[in-house]
Amino acid sequence: MKFLPLFVRADRVPALVVGGGPVATRKVRVLRESGVVVRVVAPRVEPALESMDGVTIERRDYRESDLKGAKIVFAATDNRALNAQIAKSCEHLDILANTATDSLEACFILPAIINRDPINIAITTTGASPALTRMLRSRLEALLPPSYSRLAALLEQFRARANAAIPNSRVRGRFWAEIVEGPIADLIHAGREDEAVQALDKAIVNSDSSAPRDGEVWIVGAGPGDADLLTVRALRLIQQADVVVVDRLVSPAVQALIRPGAELVYAGKRRADHAIPQDELNLLLVSMAKEGKRVCRLKGGDPFIFGRGAEEIETLVDHGVRFQIVPGITAASGCASYAGIPLTHRDYAQSCAFITGNRQADGSLDLEWARHANPAQTLVFYMSLHSLPTISKELQANGLPADTPAAVIQQGTTPHQRVLISNLADVANDCVEADIQPPSLLIVGQVVRLYHRLHWYRTGADTVTHEADFFDSSTPRA
Ligand code: SAH
Repeated sequence: MKFLPLFVRADRVPALVVGGGPVATRKVRVLRESGVVVRVVAPRVEPALESMDGVTIERRDYRESDLKGAKIVFAATDNRALNAQIAKSCEHLDILANTATDSLEACFILPAIINRDPINIAITTTGASPALTRMLRSRLEALLPPSYSRLAALLEQFRARANAAIPNSRVRGRFWAEIVEGPIADLIHAGREDEAVQALDKAIVNSDSSAPRDGEVWIVGAGPGDADLLTVRALRLIQQADVVVVDRLVSPAVQALIRPGAELVYAGKRRADHAIPQDELNLLLVSMAKEGKRVCRLKGGDPFIFGRGAEEIETLVDHGVRFQIVPGITAASGCASYAGIPLTHRDYAQSCAFITGNRQADGSLDLEWARHANPAQTLVFYMSLHSLPTISKELQANGLPADTPAAVIQQGTTPHQRVLISNLADVANDCVEADIQPPSLLIVGQVVRLYHRLHWYRTGADTVTHEADFFDSSTPRA
């Protein structure tokens, strides 16, 4: 960051603005909205500036003695040399200066401001793009209706009382978190302030500070990798949790969204290498919830698809711990979309099966091969990289043609995504040759042909080994 965001008391920074044109006018408007006392020195000033309240205007040329008494100075003339000279004088006098003509060389910049007093949001793109600043500002404006101003004022009014009534800081933190996201805040946003005041008053009286509240476990699907694929609820819970328990499949992009103050537990799962054994993990979730913590158990993809989510929840049920389950985008769906391979298609596949390729302890893969070897069905194998030779052999033995299209997607939906396009007979060898690594997913079926027309998410790392076989003129229109 080139600039440190700070909020400075408006009544402690008298400002001098040198210049009276449109730029100076814009700056003065922001300064006045914040309550800064402003003096303008310029031979000519815009009528809009002239009519602003609380501005002293001296109609003449700038001289160095004007700097006296100012804490911040805006050199906003259209004369670059003069602006530079003002900035230089300010440097000698330890006054912060902003030069309109060289704003990135300035000591400070005036950000775009969203004013929901007492909430203030300052935005800058550090000169990269005023259009982007405007876009971000309008999005944030839309996210924050003016009622946030009233909500903040109400919370401030009750803050001291609630803090005295609820001495335990964790219980208090939770109390406020529930207020700002719950029905009391909704009353404010709906303009029913009197009711909100009464409800908040009652909530403080009823808050039992001696007994820490029951915790809760949220089993949350983190999706296949791209953080943009999280659900809105997943994002909210990730940011509210006291503890977040993640496994290896949860991408760094998603982990980056965890609140910095949250405790982080790695359940690190790799094939046959569970950092915390599943039984222990189940009990850990129970014990943390019993301590009153809100635990977010973040799982790759969807918690109920090869995620052992059900096992974790059964233990919670046995111990009477409250829980919520938040679905996520499963790897099949994420990888298929980002590889441009639809899982079903009118012409190619009327059904789709999600199958585990995880071998038994003895190395075997005990599946209903005869049922899976159906040319009108798409097969998606999870955890299958090590069983590709078996899958290929068994499906062929049960009647699927050797040239059935097959795709393997590694780290789907992430910037490291790789797609390998092959066929049933060769896919295992091709993966070894292309050095495909976990996590990866195997898709078998005629839908793989559509990759040729539909792939759109390009990382430059795809490998196509059987292009001529699949993508011929007989490929029906997608
Ligand atoms: N619950 C998860 C699946 C857990 S099993 C879900 O719904 O997606 C783990 C397997 O998921 C991996 O072995 C791999 O086959 C697949 N997988 C998960 N994320 C993946 C990704 N980004 N790219 C490719 N395969 C992925």
